Amino acid sequence: MQKNENKNMFKASWTYDKAPESTDHVQIKKEYELYINGKFTKPVKGKYFDTINPSTNKKIASVAEATSEDVDIAVKAARKAFKGWSSLSGKERGKYIFRIARLIQERAREFAVIESLDGGKPIKESRDIDIPLAANHFFYYAGWADKLEYAFPNRKPEPLGVVGQIIPWNFPLLMAAWKLAPALATGNTVVLKPAETTPLTALKLAEIIHDSGIPKGVVNIITGAGETGASIVNHPDVDKIAFTGSTGVGKYISNAVAGTNKSVTLELGGKGANIIFEDAAIDQAVEGIVNAIFYNQGHVCCAGSRLFIQESVADVVIQKLKDRMETLIVGDPLDKNTDVGAINSKKQLQIIENYIKIGINEGGDIYQSSCNLPKSGNWCAPTLFLNVSQSHKIVQEEIFGPVLAVQTFRTISEVIEKANNTPYGLSAGVWTNNGAKIFHLTERLEAGVIWANTFNKFDAASPFGGYKESGYGREGGMQGLNPYVKFD
Ligand code: ADP
Repeated sequence: MQKNENKNMFKASWTYDKAPESTDHVQIKKEYELYINGKFTKPVKGKYFDTINPSTNKKIASVAEATSEDVDIAVKAARKAFKGWSSLSGKERGKYIFRIARLIQERAREFAVIESLDGGKPIKESRDIDIPLAANHFFYYAGWADKLEYAFPNRKPEPLGVVGQIIPWNFPLLMAAWKLAPALATGNTVVLKPAETTPLTALKLAEIIHDSGIPKGVVNIITGAGETGASIVNHPDVDKIAFTGSTGVGKYISNAVAGTNKSVTLELGGKGANIIFEDAAIDQAVEGIVNAIFYNQGHVCCAGSRLFIQESVADVVIQKLKDRMETLIVGDPLDKNTDVGAINSKKQLQIIENYIKIGINEGGDIYQSSCNLPKSGNWCAPTLFLNVSQSHKIVQEEIFGPVLAVQTFRTISEVIEKANNTPYGLSAGVWTNNGAKIFHLTERLEAGVIWANTFNKFDAASPFGGYKESGYGREGGMQGLNPYVKFD
């Protein structure tokens, strides 16, 4: 299956010392309950599910499975809390949100370890990116809480009411922050559900939210899988649904709320184009390609999963990329050296492996780094496909794993056409030394986020969201307040 001309090239001389992050003082309970109305409570039907460490496939803890009865209790608690919370001054609401931000910072190491244990991402990513960004998001929106009249000049923004928020497993704490912070700043109350494979940091966040002293019922965090999510979506007393996840579930949600008064924002899948021009700084671009597709094992909706290289530099870029892939350390998420961690679940690994098979059957040339994969757990070597074309499934569909489809182009107009030839419209990247070319492309690429000479950079002040089948609505920045307010 593997076609590695330079297989074992680095093997003989290339070793590294393991540097495992300590798990001391990281408390993980055996069993987790639902956080409803300011208390941790047992689920009505007494059902629990296991959350698994994807790098070992061993159980970490039991987690409560909320049924529609629990969802109803949580929504009622949020409804009851709405009047008090929405009539607090913005300054008062901001104080609680600032407190949550500071508490995340204080317990950042604990959050990072739990995130990597439960989700499989490298500790250096959870420690240096996810957790700091989550704290920043709360700081940023705490700042807006008492300045809403500046965000909406001459208009009087009102909160929507009870908001149901459903988040995915790729950035568990960060997505919880993206959802909660703007909703709270604008005076809404919330029922939030993390994904079933990564509930632990959201539950840790529930502890912190509790410690912040926020009035009971303002934030309710409940756990469960798709059925629990559907119960939130279908609850008649929820005013808005904010969802991040797959396009398939996004379509279900959009159908489920059609004809109701619920408003919806959806942040769905992507198949981002990463475009390398011949005048780009090639070594930086190669780093950018690696970051675009192998960051977080490629479990990134805005990943640069389609690479377009200008023909004149294609050979050199591909060779440098293969060499760089050989140096990536794949393994223990808790090792500080690890570049690529575990695939989040067995189910996701099967999806990725199936796409790899499809790619081979479609006639693509596969190249995988020759790293040693650990024996147990869910792993996928960094992979690229050459010799693929627009019609190939692995070029059209989101794989959500460390698999890159590589194509070449000659002219700007050709690459714009190819880049836009996808049902998605979430992200794109452009690598060139020429500023005018960047602006030319940003005007024509159909993508909500376009990075120039970088990729996968996020900031609380910067709006994020998609076009076409990548969803609608924006999160982050001043624009991220819009989905949580209405006007008389
Ligand atoms: P993936 O397919 O990659 O697991 P999903 O879109 O299924 O991603 O999951 C994202 C979130 O949506 C998770 O919290 C999941 O539990 C939730 N979910 C799954 N199915 C439904 C549904 N029918 N209604 C509401 N939420 C759902």
